[in-house]
Amino acid sequence: MKIEVSGINAGYGAKTVIQDVSFTLEPGQILAFLGHNGAGKTTTLKTIMGLLAPRAGSIAADGKTLDRLDVAARVAMGLRLLPEGRGIFPDLGVAENIDVVAAANVGPGATFTAEDVYRLFPVLAERRTTRAGSMSGGQQQMLALGLAILGTPRCLMLDEPSIGLAPNLVERMFDQVRDVCRSHAMTAILVEQNVAAAMRIADRVIIMNNGALVFDGLPDEARGSDFWSYF
Ligand code: ATP
Repeated sequence: MKIEVSGINAGYGAKTVIQDVSFTLEPGQILAFLGHNGAGKTTTLKTIMGLLAPRAGSIAADGKTLDRLDVAARVAMGLRLLPEGRGIFPDLGVAENIDVVAAANVGPGATFTAEDVYRLFPVLAERRTTRAGSMSGGQQQMLALGLAILGTPRCLMLDEPSIGLAPNLVERMFDQVRDVCRSHAMTAILVEQNVAAAMRIADRVIIMNNGALVFDGLPDEARGSDFWSYF
């Protein structure tokens, strides 16, 4: 899915957090969206998802403006946000989590059904009846990612998906994200403090500082830029 963000300003109450944010992502691109804590990355994702209304600017997906669409309509178009801190129902079982989200998102001809999620993450199949909140952090994050891809995702936004995960699990999860993006022309935006892990799969990098974009380019250009010293 092509994503065009044009001149977005957004914030909370009287406070403006992001200013004049613009970037375009081509279908299938994986963006590493980097920057210090508090730079405004989560705020940008929330604005794209429709959880926060921009004060200025506009966002389009595949050429269609999202400005008047609520979150549910954006989910139906294929936009997905895996929020920071895991988007799962901790008190439900693994299969119940998957069934609840599948009921809302999986229509005829969907790209990812419950069975596809179990195939991608076999550990979830072994734990169908386990209470989600009692699993390890890694397993909970796999469930969260599985829920985010159910149906037909076309732009997957992941907010700090690696937090609390062992390095080998992070690599495995990111490899799966890359494979799914490549095979389905799915766009991904990866907000990550684990810069090395994000850079392994990214084909584009944006760096945000203090609510503004300060770098937009290819991974090698990012590594050679003045802003790389941030990390
Ligand atoms: P982090 O990695 O810490 O989440 P970030 O780059 O994603 O960093 P944001 O979460 O977008 O940054 O936060 C940007 C600024 O907006 C911060 O100063 C933060 O305190 C402020 N902020 C975030 N959420 C709210 C909110 N609900 N109400 C008021 N201010 C907020």
